[in-house]
Formats: sequence, structure tokens, C-alpha cells
Amino acid sequence: MKIKFLGTAAAEAFPAMFCDCENCRKARTLGGKNIRTRSQALINDEMFIDYSCDTYHHVLANNINLLDIKYCLITHIHEDHFYPDDFNWFEKGYSCLPQDWHGLTVYGSTDIKPCLEPRVKKSQGFFHCESQPPFKPFKIGDYTVTALKANHGTENPYLYIIEKNNKSFLYANDTGLFLDETWEYLKSCDICFDAVSMDCTAGTTDITYSSHMGLPRNIKTRDMLIKYGLASDNTKFILNHFSHNGGNAVYEEFSRIAEKHGFMTAYDGFEIEI
Ligand SMILES: [Zn+2]
Ligand SMILES: [Zn+2]
Ligand SMILES: [Zn+2]
Repeated sequence: MKIKFLGTAAAEAFPAMFCDCENCRKARTLGGKNIRTRSQALINDEMFIDYSCDTYHHVLANNINLLDIKYCLITHIHEDHFYPDDFNWFEKGYSCLPQDWHGLTVYGSTDIKPCLEPRVKKSQGFFHCESQPPFKPFKIGDYTVTALKANHGTENPYLYIIEKNNKSFLYANDTGLFLDETWEYLKSCDICFDAVSMDCTAGTTDITYSSHMGLPRNIKTRDMLIKYGLASDNTKFILNHFSHNGGNAVYEEFSRIAEKHGFMTAYDGFEIEI
């Protein structure tokens, strides 16, 4: 399974659009891996995780043809993960869609339905949306996907387990420490993840609010995954979704500290294969 991180920032991007803090100033000066856009990942060149307001930039920067994308999993409806206005452009007059095109199906919780259903009706039959309940594996093509409940501010936010050809990936943002019911479900699974991507909005800061994580929470979560047999020494642990407000948030500073604790630090364009 090929996993590419297209956007790795929190909501206001990094450097933040209107911010002159020290981390944003450093990021603008250093450039490169310090420039982070809003959340999105790409699986095997055919499945998006999230459809953020920076999707069109990701498409151009990574030479992606949107007509190659078949599936899109939405974690939650914050606009740095879900930007439904783009789905207006399936409508006749805005796009000439090939008649043999496979179409695009967007999956998520019940939260996505109210704003996607009117767009599905105007999409010339090529755009679909499906709400899936948490803790029930479902099939998408050759993939088995399971939504888990996230600990975040929206009504029904999800994390996702994505499995294909005996490889498994856990995508865990946005979330604070996992909910008890999510741990209970995970403990009942016969699974040892090949890769885990975790929310690191707070950088090295040990936060007390519930909806995100920083490195101390990432370490705690990683250790619990290993304790329950859900991860091993071979699991790749990746940190993702960075805010300029986090401690040591600039890539060069943060990645050195994260590496000492056994984590890889995602950046826009970072790619792994499991
Ligand atoms: Zn976010
Ligand atoms: Zn800033
Ligand atoms: Zn969010």
C-alpha cells in the first residue's frame, strides 16, 4: 500500500495565513518541508483521505488527475478536511465527464450527507456519497475499511483503518486521546498495524484539551497500541497535522525530537510504502 501525505497542517495552514509568530516566521524563511497545507492523504493513487480546501493545490503540485480518484474517506466536516463546494463542478456545463468514467464515491459519517446529497443529484450520475456506521468493516473495491470514533469537536468524527493485501494502516486525525469505545473495538481486532499516522497538532507540547494530540500523547497512544498487540517494532509511526502554535513545530526542530522517540514526521509530499 502506497501512502502519500499531500497536506499536513492544521486548519489555518503553516505558516498560518495571517500570523507573524516565531514559528510562522521561521517556516517562511526556511521553506521546504516547513510549508504545510491543509489535511489530505492519497492511498495507491486512487483513494483520498479527506478532501480539504487545499485539494486543488495538491492535485497540481503532485501531478494528480482527479479523474483517477475513485474513493474519498472523510474524517470529519471541519473545512480543513471537508470542502464540499468543489463537488459542485460535476454539474453539466462545468465538466465534460467521460461516459465510461468510474465516478467518485465519498464515504463518511452521517455528518456528510446533508451537504453532499444535493450535489449528488446534480452530478450527471458520477458522484456518490455513502454514510457508514462506526465499528463495522465495509468493502470499497479491494479495500476493507473500518471507521472508528474519533475524540474531536464535531458531531461524528472518524478515524479509519484501511486494509488491503494483508497490509493495514490506521489514520488517526483529528483526535485527542482515543475514546474508550475505540480502544475496546481495537482490542477486539486481530490486527497488527503496518503503519499508524497520528494527530500531532500541538507539536512537543503536552496539552490538556481533548480534541488533539501532541508528542506526549502520541507516545502514550503508541505504547498502548504496542501493549495491546496492535503494533510492533516493525510498525511505522508517523506524526501528522501540525499547527504553528505547537511546541518546536518547525520541521527541522520537531523531526529531530520525534525521531529520538521512534516517530517519522510527515511533511507535504512525504510518501511511504507498507
Ligand atoms: Zn484538522
Ligand atoms: Zn503563527
Ligand atoms: Zn478538526
